[in-house]
Amino acid sequence: TTQTAPNFDCNVLNSPWGEIQVTNESLTDHVFADVELWADKPSLTCGISGRSYDYGMMRMMIDRCASGLIAALSLQPGDRIGLILPNLPEFAVLIHGAMRAGLVVTFANPLYTADEMKRQFSDCHVKAIATIEMFMPVAQEVSKALKDYKGTIWVGGDDDKTKGIFGLRSLVMADHKADLPTVNADDVCLIPYSSGTTGMPKGVMLTHKNLVSNLKQVMCPKIMKYGGEKGQCEVVLTVPPFFHIYGFNGILNYNLRLGYHIVSMPKFTPEDYIKCLVQYKPSTLFVVPSLLAFLGTHPMVTKEHLQSVETIMVGAAPTTDSILEKFLLKCQKTKDQVRLLQGYGMTESSPVSLMTPYVYPHGKVGSVGQLVCSTQGRVVSLTDGRALPPHQAGELWLRGPQVMKGYWNNEAATKETVDSEGWLHTGDVAYYDEEHYFYIVDRTKELIKVKGNQVSPTEIESIIMEMPEVADVAVVGMPDHLAGELPKAFVVLKPRGQLTEKQVYDFVAQKLTKYKHLEGGVAFLDAIPRNAAGKIMRNELKVLGKNRKK
Ligand code: AMP
Repeated sequence: TTQTAPNFDCNVLNSPWGEIQVTNESLTDHVFADVELWADKPSLTCGISGRSYDYGMMRMMIDRCASGLIAALSLQPGDRIGLILPNLPEFAVLIHGAMRAGLVVTFANPLYTADEMKRQFSDCHVKAIATIEMFMPVAQEVSKALKDYKGTIWVGGDDDKTKGIFGLRSLVMADHKADLPTVNADDVCLIPYSSGTTGMPKGVMLTHKNLVSNLKQVMCPKIMKYGGEKGQCEVVLTVPPFFHIYGFNGILNYNLRLGYHIVSMPKFTPEDYIKCLVQYKPSTLFVVPSLLAFLGTHPMVTKEHLQSVETIMVGAAPTTDSILEKFLLKCQKTKDQVRLLQGYGMTESSPVSLMTPYVYPHGKVGSVGQLVCSTQGRVVSLTDGRALPPHQAGELWLRGPQVMKGYWNNEAATKETVDSEGWLHTGDVAYYDEEHYFYIVDRTKELIKVKGNQVSPTEIESIIMEMPEVADVAVVGMPDHLAGELPKAFVVLKPRGQLTEKQVYDFVAQKLTKYKHLEGGVAFLDAIPRNAAGKIMRNELKVLGKNRKK
């Protein structure tokens, strides 16, 4: 008998939740489409200062900010603007104001060093920066490295035209009447940075259509609570930063779209977080795994603090079952009293691709859920590229309208990551079961995740290579029960080079923001294990790192 080749196309999975209609709206129009239903309700409140705007005010400030950016700063549609802002109500005003003006936004962690910001902002040719007083010195320093710079917007401050500073308040109060451009849904409106599967952080080009589609993809009643309850004012407490795609689209835009009252904090402290739980009695918490671990284990958090909580959304990094269980034990609720939802995503997919369903029983142990609407997935063999059947682990590929347009100015990286058929190669290793629930089990990519933050090993390696004593280096993520992973450096010294672990640690600490510091340790080796092609064998180093203390 002749054997027919198995048909692996049957291993391409479709979303169990159906399709969305992809529309031509701009992100801002979509997010505020129903604003008149809740114009007098609070939109975004700062959990520390209490400063808050209702939805009507927020929408008006956005339009005025858009006009001001065009009229006062002479910015043109397509120009890039950089945000150095923590989670404040004005974050939403500025980012949507900029997008309404047709500008392209890139955001950075405000705690980045000036060098980290310069690299990002000059890479995408930022022409204006918005920031608060605390980060004004770094913004001024970064702006000096930028060509054709138009000015700095100061949130909470006044104009100082001699220094090119525009106070946000006066920009909004002046009520400039600029012609706002018609925004094309295929235009890029956001360039967050991600190292993707390899190398240095790269600009991820996301369009209005990408971001709007992703909001629609999760707003299916079976995935997230939505529909039939417009105008109902739920209170949401959130800490993940709006300057990461999960915080921006998955939290800020998602909750604004639904008219919910978002309480957020520019900086996390246990005391302030507990104060917000008590004062605002949120029904929903958006968290990363390390924050959930804090809620489940910190002695200051009591079951009374968590009384109002009905839903918890965890994303941005893997969560363990023991973290979930500790949380349930702390609040003394059962899984049908508090919904513990998980999402999987990445910057390159706006970000969500997999979600546990909202409907009880909300998912399965260890699973990050099922494909969101209009998303296809396949799990591809790491050895022969076949699309695999259930229960076999391989690289997760995803396809849908949320997949980025490409990397900014980097066609080679784009081609490596999104293939000619539109499949996004995630660099994550996953399998799925018969009911098409997915389980993330590993990563083939180099990326390290520290408390949900991206750390590119290449970035740290390139800093360590600046030390004259160093001949070779490799950085990998070591598992940590609180942070998820911590970066560890393996260093090879030149023949007469002498360095201590502390010197390497301090050198990196001077140049990079805190979560990129070598908290996983520094170890010296005679040689970095590489394969025949010269690629660092990172898994071998992870094993080595586990087996030796130093
Ligand atoms: P980012 O672009 O910063 O959102 O990082 C994306 C990466 O974070 C993914 O490719 C995964 O490696 C990891 N990640 C995000 N969400 C999850 C999750 N729920 N479970 C496991 N890994 C996750």
